[in-house]
Amino acid sequence: VGQGDAALIRSPAGRTVLVDGGPPQADDLLLRRLPALVQGPLDLVVLTHPHLDHLGGLPRVLQGVGARRFLDPGFEQPSESYRDLLALLARLKIPLRQPTLDPARPGQPVTIGLGEGASLTVLWPRRPVEPFLANTRSDANANSVVMRLTHGNVHVLFTGDAEPDTEERLLELGAPLRAQVLKVGHHGSRWASSAPFLAQVRPEVAVISAGRGNDYGHPTPEALERLRAVGARVLRTDLAGELRLESDGTRVRVEPVGPAPPAAPGGGTPQAPAPAPGYTAYRGGPVFHRADCRAAAKWTPAQREDFSRREDAARGRRPAKDCDP
Ligand SMILES: [Zn+2]
Ligand SMILES: [Zn+2]
Repeated sequence: VGQGDAALIRSPAGRTVLVDGGPPQADDLLLRRLPALVQGPLDLVVLTHPHLDHLGGLPRVLQGVGARRFLDPGFEQPSESYRDLLALLARLKIPLRQPTLDPARPGQPVTIGLGEGASLTVLWPRRPVEPFLANTRSDANANSVVMRLTHGNVHVLFTGDAEPDTEERLLELGAPLRAQVLKVGHHGSRWASSAPFLAQVRPEVAVISAGRGNDYGHPTPEALERLRAVGARVLRTDLAGELRLESDGTRVRVEPVGPAPPAAPGGGTPQAPAPAPGYTAYRGGPVFHRADCRAAAKWTPAQREDFSRREDAARGRRPAKDCDP
């Protein structure tokens, strides 16, 4: 989604959770990609915090794809875009919730079941048991929803734009942070991913969501160095484009979906070309073809929908007779 965050979770039971919706200019991409990955409305949309690079693409997603529930930290943010988003949720009658702890059981974090043993545990915020973090570099960032996705023995940690204060508080609380996959905090800014935090997470894979050639210098050499020091394999959307990570409950497989974003003027790191799509379908049509099928050659890019994996192409479609994909 360029300079911002957006991650889609699909559970083995078919539940879908969208974590953030990128900046406003990402909405075309999200409206193109999400219907290929999600059937019906999203089960849950999580806005980690009310900044534009996380909520900008959400209004059109909520209208075009739909959502059953919406979760955000409940942090007051006097911005027009956030106010408009809340008004849209009300208009669409999408229930808005905050991760509120039961004061009688303060040690019991909010957990969201995703079916077949998969779940999301909200590690921050922890109101009303813990107050929002205040007087930080950015209180909106510091009170990002931090969640740990569990699938068997695989854990994925989503950190939003969490600040050093958030990381420190989670360490003090003894929150379960260990995760094979870390969605690196704050686009790889030097303010996130402190060494003590990474020592606890011990990520094998670290995913950085950032825009190619962004003005913030994300990801920063400092954050990259700290990730390297804990032995994490770093994946960057600014270089690779869309990424898919698949868990079998024991291991995580990484597959770039691409395409790699165009290099910023003035160069940048050269990238291997994205893998060619294997399958394609006429948008809204009942069949799918091999991507190189003659039948598909006549279609315009807007008419065709490409898939790297057969199971995605085959969802709701049957194989075409002409190319037998
Ligand atoms: Zn951000
Ligand atoms: Zn932010």
